[in-house]
Amino acid sequence: MAGVNKGGWESNQEVASLTDRYVMKTYGRFPIAPVRGEGCRLWDADGKEYLDFVAGLAVCNLGHCHPRVVRAIQEQAGTLLHVSNLYHIPSQSALAKKIVENSFGDRVFFCNSGAEANEAAIKLVRRYEREVRKGDRFEILTMENSFHGRTLTTMAATGQDKVKKGFDPLAPGFRHVPFKDPDSLVEAIRDETCAILVEPIQGEGGIVCPAEDYLPFLRSVCDERELLLVFDEVQVGIGRTGTLFAHESFGVVPDVMTLAKGLGGGVAIGAAVASERVAAGFVPGTHASTFGGNPLATAAGLSVLETILEEEVLENCREVGGHLREGLERVASRHPELVREVRGRGLLQAMELTVAGGPIVEACMGRGLLINCTANTVLRFLPPLIVTKAQVDEMLDTLESVLATTSVDGGEGA
Ligand SMILES: *Cc1c(COP(=O)(O)O)cnc(C)c1O
Repeated sequence: MAGVNKGGWESNQEVASLTDRYVMKTYGRFPIAPVRGEGCRLWDADGKEYLDFVAGLAVCNLGHCHPRVVRAIQEQAGTLLHVSNLYHIPSQSALAKKIVENSFGDRVFFCNSGAEANEAAIKLVRRYEREVRKGDRFEILTMENSFHGRTLTTMAATGQDKVKKGFDPLAPGFRHVPFKDPDSLVEAIRDETCAILVEPIQGEGGIVCPAEDYLPFLRSVCDERELLLVFDEVQVGIGRTGTLFAHESFGVVPDVMTLAKGLGGGVAIGAAVASERVAAGFVPGTHASTFGGNPLATAAGLSVLETILEEEVLENCREVGGHLREGLERVASRHPELVREVRGRGLLQAMELTVAGGPIVEACMGRGLLINCTANTVLRFLPPLIVTKAQVDEMLDTLESVLATTSVDGGEGA
């Protein structure tokens, strides 16, 4: 694109040296600095163009700078940015109504991130047990290989040791069971167990999908044992798998659901959604967030949901998701020595490799394609839900060309 607006930055290198000098070293970053985006395209500070199949890690589900989202944010920014939850906030009420009208839920609590949404859900589950059910159970079962966030409590809920290393002591009250294993789950339930927290599809863990009957099984166990079922839809919600919420396609409803990533279209927001019965656990003074549900974030969230529901975004996700899946399988069939499995739902697709994915991600980046690798060997494809079949084909061509030069010992040839 001619005359690329580089946001006032000279080069990727200029930005990278500032990051290296002044920002805490919590991230291993790639050496590019995207400065502008439009739809499924990004441009970095050197002016190089990319096809974006990461979408800010399932955040920019309507692509970059979607006109409806931009307009909502600009209008809200020029009207009122913040007032506090001491008062009613019109866009917060409207977004809550939109979520409730399109889900199992009756009430919503707003916060600012996925971890906070899970914190809210965990606090709600405990309050419900004490104040509504009048019991004293406290333990929440979560899954091995799960991811629920990086706060002290959501880290304890997370079923991956690498996330917790060096942060002892961990918050008590969680125990992990193997994902997709009905027998060990039933065995793990004890007198103090009050809930199960689970991602309908494990995201960070490598796009691990349960069998069709696993989530319905969890629902029936929870009903029998009077446990609450909490779905962490922070990554898989907001249309990513082809339905507004991922659990819809498994034919099962939770008692509580958490949302974040895609909800604000790029603006920080999180939400815990619950049935009326469970939401009764929270009364004034029990939970709060200064920024939670603020006018800007909820105006953005409302524009995201309206656009998804009014502009056939879910239909596109299912159709182009099917096209992506077929294409990945075709690429996989040509490289059986490199690809173990293709899996996923909608526009949350993964290709598990027999080699490390990092070098392939880097080679794709060099060729103007952004993809992600999680769990070391799993290439993750998370394009905006407005992606076209032609853009999927473009991605597949680049991936194919990179795999063609990759050897089974993990090296990238050319
Ligand atoms: C990303 C993610 C979180 C954490 O969200 P943050 O906004 O980074 O706190 C929690 N759960 C799942 C399933 C996620 O993918």
